[in-house]
Amino acid sequence: MERIDKMFGENVFNDAVMKERLTKPTYKALKNTIDKGEPLDVSIADEIAKVMKEWAIEKGATHFTHWFQPLTGLTAEKHDAFIDPEGPGKVILKFSGKELIKGEPDASSFPSGGLRATCSARGYTIWDCTSPAFVKDNTLCIPTVFCSYTGEVLDTKGPLLRSVDALSKEAIRVLRCLGNTTSQKVFPNVGPEQEYFIVDKKSYDEREDLIFTGRTLFGAPSPKGQELDDHYFGVLKERVSAFMKDVDKELWALGITAKTKHNEVAPAQHEIATIYTSGNLATDNNQLVMEVLKKIALRHGLVCLLHEKPFAGINGSGKHNNWSMGTDDGLNLLDPTDTPHSNKQFLLFFTATIKAVDKYADLLRFSASNAGNDHRLGANEAPPAIISVFVGDQLEDILEQLEKGSATSTKGNSKLDLAISTIPTVEKDATDRNRTSPFAFTGNKFEFRMPPSSKSVAEPNTVLNAIVADVLSEIADRLEKASNVDAEVEKILTEIVKEHKKVVFNGNGYADAWVEEAEKRGLPNIKTTVEATKALIADKNVSVFEKFGILTKEELESRYEVALENYAKAINIEALTMIDMASKKIVPAVIKYTAELANSLNAIKAAVPSADVTTESELITKISGLTAKLNISLRELKASTEKAAATTDAYDQAYAYKFDVFEKMSVLREAADALEVLVDKKAWPFPTYSDLLFNV
Ligand code: ADP
Ligand code: MG
Repeated sequence: MERIDKMFGENVFNDAVMKERLTKPTYKALKNTIDKGEPLDVSIADEIAKVMKEWAIEKGATHFTHWFQPLTGLTAEKHDAFIDPEGPGKVILKFSGKELIKGEPDASSFPSGGLRATCSARGYTIWDCTSPAFVKDNTLCIPTVFCSYTGEVLDTKGPLLRSVDALSKEAIRVLRCLGNTTSQKVFPNVGPEQEYFIVDKKSYDEREDLIFTGRTLFGAPSPKGQELDDHYFGVLKERVSAFMKDVDKELWALGITAKTKHNEVAPAQHEIATIYTSGNLATDNNQLVMEVLKKIALRHGLVCLLHEKPFAGINGSGKHNNWSMGTDDGLNLLDPTDTPHSNKQFLLFFTATIKAVDKYADLLRFSASNAGNDHRLGANEAPPAIISVFVGDQLEDILEQLEKGSATSTKGNSKLDLAISTIPTVEKDATDRNRTSPFAFTGNKFEFRMPPSSKSVAEPNTVLNAIVADVLSEIADRLEKASNVDAEVEKILTEIVKEHKKVVFNGNGYADAWVEEAEKRGLPNIKTTVEATKALIADKNVSVFEKFGILTKEELESRYEVALENYAKAINIEALTMIDMASKKIVPAVIKYTAELANSLNAIKAAVPSADVTTESELITKISGLTAKLNISLRELKASTEKAAATTDAYDQAYAYKFDVFEKMSVLREAADALEVLVDKKAWPFPTYSDLLFNV
């Protein structure tokens, strides 16, 4: 393999390529937009398009596409060849500045939550030059924002970019009040950790549930699960390792900093983490990480499952969203330094985040919700559905001091000495880790641990940026008016701690006691996606989004509809898949097996009338009993699904899918899984958990 530093970013139209190939004034103008957020000078687009096209063609590109992120949660692309006719039977290769800047896809077939009708189908994709173009599969991909003819954003990138601007503006205001005159821009820095499962393609192909829904809808537990803790960080199996190497290579060529890879807690579960970068780019990169994982797996005869809960009874997958605020001149505003108690800048940005998380817990909770994540949050494998913030001992001590007035000391970092002569003494971190917290301060960043593995990180980051911008803007309003800034800072810090310490929790988030305690503290415990969607239309949340021009009330209402629709559709597909598998596979297989048992029982009795056939007859009784149960629950599931599908109000419909259809699915599954344990392995109609989890 080529050295990583040589191949890194070879398929990206990155800074080095632009610097080398663009004229100086064009390069400078473009950089001003990328680095400083200045408006794009469209007159330079033609030159950039020409250079970009030549570069892409050298990389083997024949087509270009505006790459965008509609509300399906996936990426979308429509490919156009670079060709333009020139004379009879001839073409030239063309790509103009206009084509670079603006595309006009039909927007009517993407979710819009009623914002637009099919009769007004025009949509636009508009170039986002802050995320570099890249070549993938012989196509030049240009990251874009997707909006309707009338300007409503129909994607996840538009609001994200607006939230990044809002955060920057408000953070800079606060920095100026604190005497910082050099920083020009503040970026949210984001490092997502992506969990996923790998299964064998042959087994996968035999399971409609995996194919249609991404998770197993049936399946009795295998004799071994994750109880031995032997998979986490375990040695990589050769096939998995070969797959991971190809993933790394592909990502590095796309300029994506794939850094960490390891086996996760559950069998067949793994993780990949990239090095943090600015929020917009990190989001685009994570979309590509998910795409590359899926694509490369297939090349190895494997399938990558990004679903949050592919298997019952073992851990599911999430996406830890590491988030901090950094300036263009290299400061991390969440770096506590060695003496956080006297670092007013850190304390302001740190407590502002805590306040934002407390005030907008419902929005954050929503941003981490989808049908798959309902299986995880609060299920003792992932954080609870209650949002709280872990700060660790050192910072908790400082918050306590602030509550009483001002902070005057920092608990010292200790050393770790194992008293083995050959092993060095090391510095301990200021805080231990707390895996049970949904929102944990981990050294110099917050780690939001709730987001779902399959979903874009655009939404959680849009929410984080927006809500922190809101608190920073309140702080800036006060500091800009204050005659004594230091005294005002002290006042603000004390006030925030007093009002919002209820969200700080350093204990075990998995314990039942925490659920009770959180209720006493008045923290919301929003258990399901359906209920979480309400956050999108709550007045206080609408006003924060409108305040910064991130999303309008209408856009939020449409996203509320889309979220409910997406949920209802997901459960509907699951229910229909279950009905299909149960009626066409499980029931016929079980009936056939029972008949075989009955035949053998009769044969034995005929041959040896005194033979003991209690095993056969007990088995037949048990299996027929369960089959009858299965049949009843199948009928009930069908009825509930039909009823839910016919419900017209979006909220009522999603509610019916959650609290009626989903319940019936569980009953059906229970009967089927009980049957699986009794029926001959050879007679069972699809691969089992043992086949799926231990056969790669
Ligand atoms: P863990 O030990 O939590 O599994 P990983 O190494 O898997 O940690 O991932 C940590 C993630 O946090 C990486 O993506 C890393 O780049 C990111 N990260 C580190 N520092 C920051 C920071 N200041 N801001 C945002 N993300 C960060
Ligand atoms: Mg990790």
